[in-house]
Amino acid sequence: MAPYAVDLLSDTLTRPSAGMRAAMAEAEVGDDVFGEDPTVARLEARVAEFLGHEAGLFSPTGSLANQLGLRLHVKPGQELIADSMAHILRAELGAAAAFSGITSRTWVSDRGRPTPEQVLSLMAAEASPYHVATALIELENTHNFGGGSILPLATIEAIRAGSEPHGVAMHLDGARLWNAHVATGIELAAYGRLFETVSVCLSKGLGAPVGSVLVGSADAMAEARIWRKRYGAGMRQAGILAAAGLYALDHNIARLAEDHARARRFAEAVGSVAPVVDPAQVETNIVILDLTDHALSAPQAVSGFAQHGVRAYALSHTHVRLVWHLDVDDASTDLAIEAARATLG
Ligand SMILES: *Cc1c(COP(=O)(O)O)cnc(C)c1O
Repeated sequence: MAPYAVDLLSDTLTRPSAGMRAAMAEAEVGDDVFGEDPTVARLEARVAEFLGHEAGLFSPTGSLANQLGLRLHVKPGQELIADSMAHILRAELGAAAAFSGITSRTWVSDRGRPTPEQVLSLMAAEASPYHVATALIELENTHNFGGGSILPLATIEAIRAGSEPHGVAMHLDGARLWNAHVATGIELAAYGRLFETVSVCLSKGLGAPVGSVLVGSADAMAEARIWRKRYGAGMRQAGILAAAGLYALDHNIARLAEDHARARRFAEAVGSVAPVVDPAQVETNIVILDLTDHALSAPQAVSGFAQHGVRAYALSHTHVRLVWHLDVDDASTDLAIEAARATLG
């Protein structure tokens, strides 16, 4: 028995469904280090096509897919620029510095949604005898610590238009790009084409147990494949895992709209008893409660929710995050609303 009746800690908690497990059991496999796993190859080609790129590379985690993408574009001692709350800087344990010698500078934005001017004014494309050159702009869509916020396509286009003439590359952490696609109706490739490389996660709201895919040019993916092996992540009969990803792409993209509707309904219900969330800012499957002006701290609110059987996450002393996913239905959302009203109202 799960200790929580409703678990909103993260959308990574989803468990593979019976249908997904059946697809995994039946997967055709081979040794992927030798490029002989047909199911992995199908997944890589399918995700690349979705995102408007030539080739893909299956990765066990989103962090590795991001880190492979970053190192393709940034030499040791060069810099990338990113949001101060970017997953690559806040939640990947300093990997870009530790593995690739990458330095970074950040902009501070509203919910992870910078203006083009903020990004382009931070960019310093020309190196000098003492200025490090910006080699890469990293963006995240949707933005995790920004509360699942969507970065508008027009913003990304303006950033691309301002950086491309200077030869500065762009990488997208698209762990939840599926959510942005479903919420806006904008094609995945319309986002994907604006970047040299994009990483996407299959193991979040899409419900696969493991897996991410990095996409880019065929040459870039050939280089990333070498680095993946060097990092020790060359996998053998990985088609078992890729089959879960293919199943997720077939069955679990459109239904993300249900997660978004439930998250919004929760925010509306809670916002009506305590001014801790603006429902209009809940664009996808993540709700962040701002308790700055509330009597309870974030950890206190999280324990209050837990007493009602609901798990949430204290992002800081003042902010609580709740994430909707495949294994949270309408009844669970009602329980979460009751818990939040009892705790915060
Ligand atoms: C979850 C996540 C990742 C990847 O995380 P892994 O746990 O390494 O798979 C990358 N970026 C964002 C924004 C995420 O939320």
